[in-house]
Parts: sequence; C-alpha cells; structure tokens
Amino acid sequence: MIILVTGGAGFIGSNLCRKLLEQEHKVYCLDNFYTGSKKNIEELLNNENFICLNHDICNSMSFIKVEQIYNLACPASPPAYQGFHSIETTKTCVIGSLNLLELAKKNNATILQASTSEIYGNPLEHPQKETYFGNVNINGPRSCYDEGKRCAETLFTDYNRLYNLDTKICRIFNTYGKYMSPDDGRVVTNFIKQALRDEDITIYGDGSQTRSFCYVDDLVNGMIKLMNSEYNKPVNLGNPEEYTIKQIAEIILEKIPQSKSKIVFKDLPQDDPVKRKPDITVAKQVLNWQPEIKLSDGLDKTIEYLKEVL
Ligand code: NAD
Ligand code: UDP
Repeated sequence: MIILVTGGAGFIGSNLCRKLLEQEHKVYCLDNFYTGSKKNIEELLNNENFICLNHDICNSMSFIKVEQIYNLACPASPPAYQGFHSIETTKTCVIGSLNLLELAKKNNATILQASTSEIYGNPLEHPQKETYFGNVNINGPRSCYDEGKRCAETLFTDYNRLYNLDTKICRIFNTYGKYMSPDDGRVVTNFIKQALRDEDITIYGDGSQTRSFCYVDDLVNGMIKLMNSEYNKPVNLGNPEEYTIKQIAEIILEKIPQSKSKIVFKDLPQDDPVKRKPDITVAKQVLNWQPEIKLSDGLDKTIEYLKEVL
C-alpha cells in the first residue's frame, strides 16, 4: 500500500514508519521538523520505499496519491505545544486535519487521527472510557492542544457521517520509548536524562498525580490494527497500569543506581490532570489488542536509547 504518515519524523511517527516499511509498504513521511528530527529517520532515507517530504500540514497537500493516512503531525509535549506556539498547535490540529481529510476524500483513502487522552482533560471519571465527554478547560495553557484535538475528532466524525469517509480515531495515552527527543520535556525523558546527568529529578507538585505509560512498539501495533479494522468510533490505546509520578521517579532512579540525582519538588503546572488511566475494553474486543511490554522492560530500552543519544 501507499501510506502517508504525517509527523513521521517525530517520536511515534518514526517508529510507525519503520514498522510500515518492515511490512513492505511504500511510506511517505511528511513533517515540518518543528519537534521532529532528521536523525529519527536518517537510516530510512536509503530505503527506496521511503520518501521524506518537508511540509506543513496547514498547507494543502493535493499533490500526493495515497491509500492510507496516519495523521500524527502535532507537537505533543506540554512545553512544545504551549507558549509562543500554542496558536500553531490549534491550527495544526484543525486546519491541518481539514487539509488531510480533504486529501483522504479525494483519494478515497482511510485516515487515522492520532487523538489523545488529553481530550478527557482533568477527568472526573476513572478509568476513562471512550464514552466519557471529558472535563477540559477552554482557556488554559493546555487548551490549544486539548481543544484542537477535540475539534479534530469532531471533523473526523463528520467526514465519516457526511461523506462516508473511512475515518479512525485513536486516543493515545502517555507513550514512551526509542526516538523520543531527550529535550521534549515529558516526564520519562526528563527523569532519565536528569538521572544520567546527576541532575535534580524534577517532580512537579507532590508527585501523587498518576499516568499510565505504554511502550511505543505496543502502541504502533495497536494503531496499525485500528487502521486496518472496520471500526470508525474512537478507541483508547494505552497501558492501563497506573503509577504515580513519584513512583516513576523512584523506579528510574533504581534503574540507574550510579546516579547522584536527588528528587526535588517544583510547582505543579496549571490544569495538570490529577489521574489518568485508559479503559481498553474496546481495543481488546474490537482489535484483539492489549499492551505486551512491561514498564520495567520498556524503561530499560528507553534508558539504553537515551544513553546513546545524550
Ligand atoms: P513528536 O513531537 O515527537 O511528533 C510530532 C511530529 O509532528 C514532529 O515530527 C513535528 O515536527 C511534526 N509536526 C508538528 N506540527 C506539524 C505540522 N503543522 N506539519 C507537519 N508536521 C508537524 O510527538 P509524538 O509523541 O510522536 O506524537 C505524535 C502524535 O501522537 C501527536 O499528534 C500527538 O498529539 C499524539 N499523541 C502522543 C502521545 C504521546 O504520549 N507520545 C500521547 C497522546 C497523543
Ligand atoms: N512531570 C514532572 N516532572 C517533569 C515532567 C513532567 O513531574 O520533569 C509531570 C507532569 O506535571 C505530569 C506528568 O509528569 O503530571 C506527565 O507529564 P508529561 O509532560 O510527560 O505528559 P502529560 O500527561 O502531562 O501530557
């Protein structure tokens, strides 16, 4: 198949491109390199089935002929999508998604949106099922991302309803692993980088907030299963094992015993969700998918990768 992966030079995108090339598809990797990196796809450039396009999805893309589109283009770490770039984030989610939906419609292609657990905001239901509408601040620092992704889901659903376009919505929960940028500010990379460099481990708040971490290989398998399924409604993809952020700091410090780092507590960012854990019943039933990789094994792989790149 001819497959377009937007955001293909990013963390999840570059892992997805690798997997699709292994399956012998022709892959267009499209990226504007805002948070992605050429290094993530360097060795793929020699593969004759891999084509890299430097392009912003906010601009039209009518020049490509494709059968499947994975839309991953969007900064994903809170420091990257907030601040100066917040308006670009909303534009990417909304205008970028519209452009890609039009491209899919023109090609009669199947299109998958990389949505997020952030559409649940600071959830009042726990664990989060796909039927939960969420608790999202419209005007806060995370809103550009949360509301942008919510609007993208609305657009995907309407293209399915009005034009019968084959759309998929994958609600990704916190994912980590190889090809994550060490500087993107997310918790797993921050803690590992700090521990390897003997710097303070910065817990925001008291560390009692929870997240559930999925290794990227598991996630990519789930995304491919969803893309090739008949299911058009949103699906949670994530690992339901829930940890406090303080536990994550302690586990990482145990794995890097030579580290001289100490845990310090910093201010909790505004609207930081208190709890997060996916209910993956739908993914189990519809896709026969569940994560296989244990946190301990995934962290070992991620530590090895970050040792190489730092
Ligand atoms: P990432 O920042 O590593 O990758 C995003 C990629 O999109 C980057 O390569 C970036 O340069 C590119 N990009 C951004 N704006 C673009 C634009 N306008 N046009 C073209 N390319 C653009 O982040 P990631 O963790 O790999 O996330 C990939 C997708 O998965 C994102 O859509 C994100 O919202 C979603 N997601 C990720 C997680 C996670 O835990 N990693 C969780 C939920 C959702
Ligand atoms: N966090 C932290 N220290 C860091 C980075 C993040 O304590 O150096 C916390 C953050 O406040 C949040 C959790 O870890 O509660 C996950 O943050 P991340 O940015 O990885 O993803 P989020 O789920 O917030 O999008």
